[in-house]
Amino acid sequence: MAYAGVLAGAFVIAVTASWLPLGKQIDDYAYDWILRLYRPTPWPTDSIILAIDEDSLRANGGVMGLRKALSSGLMRIAQVQPKAVVLDIILADRSDNESDAALAEAFRQTRNLVLPSDLSGDGTGWDDPLPEFEKSAAAIGHVHLDPDLDGVGRALALEKAFQQKRRWASSLEAFRVSRGEKTIVETPDELEVGSVIVPASNASGRILRIRYRPPEFAPIPVVPLKRLLDDRSVANQFSGKVVFAGATAQTLAKDRWITPYRSTPMAGVEVLANAYDTIAQQRFLENAPDWMVVLFCIGLTVAAGVVYAWLGGWRANTAAATILAAAMLTPYVALARGVVFPLSPGFWTAWLSVVSAAAWQHFYVRRRLVKSEAERERYQHAMQFVTHEMRTPLTAIQGSSELMSRYAMPEEKRKQIAQLIHSESKRLGRMIQVFLDVERLTAGEMELKKENFPVRDVMTACVERARPLADRKQIRMTVAYLGEEILSGDRELMEYAFYNLLTNAVKYSPSNTEVTVSTIREGDQCAISVRDQGIGMDQKEVRKIFQKFYRTKKAEQSGEAGTGIGLSIVEQIVLQHGGRIDVESAPGEGSCFTLTLPLAHALKPLATN
Ligand code: ADP
Repeated sequence: MAYAGVLAGAFVIAVTASWLPLGKQIDDYAYDWILRLYRPTPWPTDSIILAIDEDSLRANGGVMGLRKALSSGLMRIAQVQPKAVVLDIILADRSDNESDAALAEAFRQTRNLVLPSDLSGDGTGWDDPLPEFEKSAAAIGHVHLDPDLDGVGRALALEKAFQQKRRWASSLEAFRVSRGEKTIVETPDELEVGSVIVPASNASGRILRIRYRPPEFAPIPVVPLKRLLDDRSVANQFSGKVVFAGATAQTLAKDRWITPYRSTPMAGVEVLANAYDTIAQQRFLENAPDWMVVLFCIGLTVAAGVVYAWLGGWRANTAAATILAAAMLTPYVALARGVVFPLSPGFWTAWLSVVSAAAWQHFYVRRRLVKSEAERERYQHAMQFVTHEMRTPLTAIQGSSELMSRYAMPEEKRKQIAQLIHSESKRLGRMIQVFLDVERLTAGEMELKKENFPVRDVMTACVERARPLADRKQIRMTVAYLGEEILSGDRELMEYAFYNLLTNAVKYSPSNTEVTVSTIREGDQCAISVRDQGIGMDQKEVRKIFQKFYRTKKAEQSGEAGTGIGLSIVEQIVLQHGGRIDVESAPGEGSCFTLTLPLAHALKPLATN
């Protein structure tokens, strides 16, 4: 049970830690790292970038000449029938009339035009294109990119809203218009454009993980505006393509992104093209649902628990290494199947579970080993003592019987020796009986006799038997009060129990002290106490004295013979009679053993007639 508790604790800590910001950050790094490791089969692209690079700017008189140059370029592209043209240049401001008119004309000529709108930096809303531009557009799409906290752009919000005005991402609009679709159908979990289902749930903010083209793929073609203007034939490259036009020049393109591939930062227009490709090629990466992650972590914890509970040594460690490997490989395997599985929940859970399971088992097994060793030692001691004790009556029996067989002796003497043999063999028999009894009592195999007897009779008999021992040590044996209560059960065993408490009280007390015996009625029970002024015990010792063969250090040093088995028998006897035993004791001050037993009438109703 405690083991399960330790594992549950490890699980909860690990899962909580992975949900904290640091855990999220680690998951993001792991995601980038796995993306870089993973080598997918190349996917095609139908996008192309019309780049306004440094050369194009310089050749056309800088930013001032840009709109004119762009309109000439777009006119050429319009003639070769591109699938769609997406602009990533904010067109909310006016330039000179001539340039604006030229651009408006170029837009009119362009089929499936997607114009950009961005959230203005000052928080006043959308920066929409000028009305004369907007009227030629098939769609207005937002080009607002939010990188993650670490500055890496991993995902794009397909939907952005400011107050009541909402815009779809221009990449998504590009896909829609290029496929001739009228609408984007929204469901809580997805967006549908024609037959293509984009897994972007409302709950996640319609986030799309951008599947960037890995560096080893052929890149999305980039044609500088200058080249298009210099060479008419270049325009053919745009035929049937989705064109993304935007700035790549350092001076113009402020929205540069670090991608998970960590190559040089990517211009915003290229990010849009990659996002478009993700949709067009349906290379979606979906997040694994939370319940799946939690279930996986539970699995790891259970596996770690089972491994260390059932296996040992190198087998357990090998299995644990497999669990750790599974936790770390799962995100990779999942990514290959288009699922983003966070690393940190599994990683922390596997490590914490394995370490706690291993530590727990290590200490638990050690503790058990130490305990069983101590038990064995005690048992050995007891056996040594017992065999030693048995030797005394055996020697007496052997010697006496030898005497009898060798020598003729007077009848009187012979009788005396026969008596001795008889009593010694009885002593031997009793010793063996006690040993067997304790085993049988513990195993619950012993049949208890049932008889009623007054507690006073039994106690008086025991006190009288123990008195000679007490006298020898000048210990006063006082009977404070004995009631009339009737007990029920095995009288012989009960006597054994009382007698044991009395002899212990005498054994473990110095001379000139007092042992007091008393009974007191407590409702349907009778409490029998034996109090001494002897060596006493501390609480730790009290907890152990009912174990077989346990003796306190002080008892060993006292020189009193003992096996440490008596109290374990007493406890068994009392328990079998439905009673209990309590001990109060303090080192150097004495002890009080109290047996509480049910009265005979409480056990079975008294006969009425
Ligand atoms: P034994 O007396 O043969 O050692 P018991 O099982 O009767 O075995 O007692 C176990 C141990 O409990 C004793 O060895 C002693 O250390 C301790 N003990 C029992 N009774 C007393 C007592 N009255 N005062 C102090 N210690 C006691």
